[in-house]
Formats: sequence, structure tokens, C-alpha cells
Amino acid sequence: MAVKVDKATCTGCAACESVCPVEAIKVVEKAEVNEDTCIDCGTCVDECPVQAISL
Ligand code: SF4
Ligand code: SF4
Repeated sequence: MAVKVDKATCTGCAACESVCPVEAIKVVEKAEVNEDTCIDCGTCVDECPVQAISL
């Protein structure tokens, strides 16, 4: 399991990257979630200013 990023909505702001407790998100142009590392904690979902991440 891992959160999903809507790439069309993501602005690449990297707010999610900095709050992930297990460093599962890397932003290059858009947020990319490492599905093997993500623990589905939901922290990034609440942090995204444009609601681009869903559990
Ligand atoms: S749900 Fe939690 S562990 Fe998964 S990417 Fe978001 S902040 Fe990281
Ligand atoms: S917080 Fe939202 S808009 Fe910003 S990089 Fe992450 S997914 Fe994209």
C-alpha cells in the first residue's frame, strides 16, 4: 500500500517531501512516492496545499 499522487494537480512544492517520517517522497518535477517505504501514515495527505495526495 502507498498513497497516490495526482500528477496533474501536484505543483512540485515539496511540502510533502519534508514531512514524510520515512522519507518515502522525492520531488523532482512532481512528487514520487516509494511504494515500498510508505507506511500510509497520511501526514503528506494533510500537508499538501492542493489535495494532490490520496490514501
Ligand atoms: S503516507 Fe506517510 S509514509 Fe506515506 S508518503 Fe505520506 S507521509 Fe510518507
Ligand atoms: S505537497 Fe502536494 S503539490 Fe506539493 S509536491 Fe507534494 S503532492 Fe505535490
